[in-house]
Amino acid sequence: CGIVAYVGQREAYPVVLKGLKRLEYRGYDSAGVALINDGSLKVYKKQGKVAELEDFVTGKNLSSQIAIGHTRWATHGEPCDRNAHPHLSGDGKLAMVHNGIIENYAQLKQELLKKGHTFTSDTDTEVLMHFIEEIKHSNQCGTEEAMRIALKRVVGAYVILIVDQDNPGTLLAARKGSPLVIGVGKGEHFLASDASPIVEYTKEVVYVNDYEIAILRADELILKNISNEVQTPYIQKLDIEL
Ligand code: GLU
Repeated sequence: CGIVAYVGQREAYPVVLKGLKRLEYRGYDSAGVALINDGSLKVYKKQGKVAELEDFVTGKNLSSQIAIGHTRWATHGEPCDRNAHPHLSGDGKLAMVHNGIIENYAQLKQELLKKGHTFTSDTDTEVLMHFIEEIKHSNQCGTEEAMRIALKRVVGAYVILIVDQDNPGTLLAARKGSPLVIGVGKGEHFLASDASPIVEYTKEVVYVNDYEIAILRADELILKNISNEVQTPYIQKLDIEL
């Protein structure tokens, strides 16, 4: 699938939408975005191509300086609106997009069902979203810490991106086995499955390594490994022309 995200001073939705169109070759079962408008987290998603999503959001107030987006290549659950990404946590405060497969999702789902979680999709992704939420509540920790703990138990390949209504200026990302590029701009950051949605804004990129977590704000980029040790980002210059 394709994932795109933005945090900075611009309107995030148009940046993410354009990026999704560039990544559409990676999957077109559904498309969706999450953004924070007027302090509240909103998710818009639709089966079909990015153009269907565009039609669906016509007339909606999408103003936000942060957004994550996804085009899906379904692996768990049929292509439909309900299974489209982003997926929300049970309390509706976190939204996540995911590229890849969570192999042990069935076991995690059983554990979560016993704890009272209910699910609105058939995806492995929603299970991971709820698993992170569950850890957050039971460990009384922040989303970043919960994500790190969750990923230690996850088997599979993934890129995940999370937005958190309680931290409206921060994007969280992690990867193992699926591609993830950060674009470093002036007072803004981009994230994508490959550099094609990023090149028109900046040529400075950081390729995230396996088992790394990225914490992105408009003017800050922090990379950590799964043991919570800060890593120095290696900024490369793209030589791609548009
Ligand atoms: N496994 C997830 C799903 O089926 C993500 C698939 C993808 O990479 O698009 O929803």
